[in-house]
Amino acid sequence: MPATHSNSGKVVIVGAGAVGATFAYALAQGGAANSICLIDQNEKLAAGQVADLAHGLPYYPSVSIYRGTAQDYRDAQVIVITAGSAQRTGETRLDLLKRNASIIESIMDDIIGQQSRAIVVIVTNPVDVLTQVALRHSRWPRSHVFGSGTVLDSARFRYAISQELGVDVKSVHAYILGEHGDSELPAWSLSNVGGVSIKQFVETQGLQDTWPERSEQIFESVKNSAYHIIDYKGATNFGVGQALVRIVQAILRDSHSVLTVSIRLQGEYGLDDVCLSVPCIVSKDGIEKVLVANLSEEEQEALQHSASVLKESMNGL
Ligand code: NAD
Repeated sequence: MPATHSNSGKVVIVGAGAVGATFAYALAQGGAANSICLIDQNEKLAAGQVADLAHGLPYYPSVSIYRGTAQDYRDAQVIVITAGSAQRTGETRLDLLKRNASIIESIMDDIIGQQSRAIVVIVTNPVDVLTQVALRHSRWPRSHVFGSGTVLDSARFRYAISQELGVDVKSVHAYILGEHGDSELPAWSLSNVGGVSIKQFVETQGLQDTWPERSEQIFESVKNSAYHIIDYKGATNFGVGQALVRIVQAILRDSHSVLTVSIRLQGEYGLDDVCLSVPCIVSKDGIEKVLVANLSEEEQEALQHSASVLKESMNGL
């Protein structure tokens, strides 16, 4: 890929479904993007979403919103891939994975074909495996192709802790690591409220006796929240839309933000050649640095387990 990056402020969203359109709406309101381009194989859907979004233009910060083609990859600063296929009746998870993998590969081919210098963020599920597919197929550096990972799950975790402890969610710092999925893990040892460890905070509130059970419930609610939301309304879109704004703004604004994105590990945490989420510094150059935190023994084992689950999925492809 070309050595220098684009700083056009242009964000291309591939997939104008529930996630892509909600993300576009939130991004337009955030004001960090100069232009937002939507691409979908369903051209009518993309046209409808663009027209609807564009009717908010008098009220957003200045931005242009339009429907694009593969040529728009050329000068994009960030490309966010939410394009995917839903599970068909009788289809196995592996069949779905294979179909989504070939969608990701063909989009990566188009991006490479346009000599794009963009940072590519994969959102389509299973996000960790598809990030690895995109990396293997493109041979781009891991800093430039990564997954949205557990940025959403970490936000859900912070929210659930804040509700349980009765503190502002913005004062809760907490991370979900590993797979964006069933084998993810809560990094309690890294979690704190305003710099006070969760353990200490719980003790000062006199909650230590019930905390083991409550903390288990918090994590279970986080892990299962997508299932519940999909059961209630058919898709998850608002939380993930905001999580994507957070990631993309870190790139556009070069803010060096610590986010749990899905990166291919190369020896960090004792893991190699597997994409999963750990805290990373995100800036205009994509992933600038992987932070290696001191996890507890139990957390390290859970991360290892998550990696082996993901490697098994990858081997199934
Ligand atoms: P959706 O079905 O509403 O939208 C997907 C869109 O992709 C459709 O409009 C479809 O036409 C389009 N598409 C399919 N193949 C394409 C191709 N080759 N090129 C261009 N467009 C193509 O689905 P959704 O609810 O928006 O979810 C999208 C993806 O995001 C799913 O895989 C979902 O599981 C995933 N998701 C990820 C997270 C996360 O945190 N990583 C959270 C929520 C959803």
